[in-house]
Amino acid sequence: MSGFADLKLCPELNATLEALGYREPTPIQTQAIPLVLAGHDLIAEAQTGTGKTASFALPMIERLSKQPGNPEYREIRGLVLVPTRELAIQVGDNTLEYGRLLGMRVISIFGGVRFDNQIRKMKRGADILVATPGRLLDMLKQKKLSLDQLEILVFDEADRMLDLGFINEIKALLAYMPVQKQTLLFSATLDESVEVLADKLLDNPKRVSVAQRNTSAATVQQRAYAVDNRDKADVLAYLITGARWQQTLVFTRTKRRADELAAALQHEGIHALAIHGDKHQRERIAVLNAFADGEVNVLVATDVAARGLDIDNLPQVVNYDLPNQPQDYVHRIGRTGRAGQKGLAVSLVAPEERRFLQAISELINKPLQLQPVPVAENGKLIDGKALQENSSGVRSKAKAKPGKTVKKAQQGKPQPQTPSRKETQEKAPARSAGRRSLFSK
Ligand code: AMP
Repeated sequence: MSGFADLKLCPELNATLEALGYREPTPIQTQAIPLVLAGHDLIAEAQTGTGKTASFALPMIERLSKQPGNPEYREIRGLVLVPTRELAIQVGDNTLEYGRLLGMRVISIFGGVRFDNQIRKMKRGADILVATPGRLLDMLKQKKLSLDQLEILVFDEADRMLDLGFINEIKALLAYMPVQKQTLLFSATLDESVEVLADKLLDNPKRVSVAQRNTSAATVQQRAYAVDNRDKADVLAYLITGARWQQTLVFTRTKRRADELAAALQHEGIHALAIHGDKHQRERIAVLNAFADGEVNVLVATDVAARGLDIDNLPQVVNYDLPNQPQDYVHRIGRTGRAGQKGLAVSLVAPEERRFLQAISELINKPLQLQPVPVAENGKLIDGKALQENSSGVRSKAKAKPGKTVKKAQQGKPQPQTPSRKETQEKAPARSAGRRSLFSK
């Protein structure tokens, strides 16, 4: 019997977990599941990758399954609010999987796709709805669905929802819900603004925390290369091709830089695509799938777009731009070196970014030494201590020939077009009110 036995979930859920290969509950699951099953409100500090989705979805399904819904039309009894479309899809998919044997109907709705398609999906109702705040509010205003029967409300990645400025939508949504309900709030960080939100939303909540906030996996090698900003694209192309990197996630600071970099890498014969909030939803899903399937080797993303991406374990993560919030560095490189696998996190550090490197070193309590970019010998990158000192620290215009693996991935595939269609819906609203002034009277 699996380590889940102690959590006393119903046989259908245990069978599902066994089929999924989940042997032991993760720490957040061990802590949160019994509290949610007991009906408590909950505030949980947990990051993506800790198993947090199952920690709210499993007990929610268990509780809702005690009263089967009307087969003709399911009233929404569980609602998970998420900040991004990608997260809506992922949480929806996972929850559907967990609830399948119990016949749970789970639907995700989010902006950026046609309104009428999502209304059609809701025709026969849903037991559990996973939604981004803006699109949900639109549907409620148009009376396309009702939350009158809501029993359990979950905020997933509450900190990111506040960062994206969804506070007004959240306040408006509350007016459509019954006062009496169980509320769970999950957040990667619990800063003052999240605490204020929790204070307003939760009734005598229990607290759990599994945050390992400032650590990165011991299996991740971290390197920081000194590179002038104007040379970054060349250096990255050189590293990718010279070291024959396969699936690589690259972070840029802005959407524009993500697009420009993807185009520059494509120009170098590297199969790269960008993902960010201005892309049409269908494009984002297609890009993610292509990356997950290995058809695209390099995914260039902004922090917001990458948040919640359920890519299990990546061999390389690159900070094309260093984040100005040191905490984001830990989030980013947490994409690699998972589950004891080896990972490599490379940061390209321009002179003006050195202060960020300093802040990151302090946060992770580990000095990140700036090194020159490794040089190539015989078309292969020499790494580590054998590096020749490069006085400028820059391999300007360095271009290695595309590695075999990269070439292979491109055979027979058309060069990707840089998508340009603008997305018009479910943009995060402008951050007008500061996070501190939430609910201020
Ligand atoms: P999350 O933190 O919810 O994004 O989950 C991260 C990943 O861990 C997902 O791919 C889950 O399918 C997986 N996962 C969640 N719980 C477990 C578990 N108990 N055992 C193994 N994998 C799990």
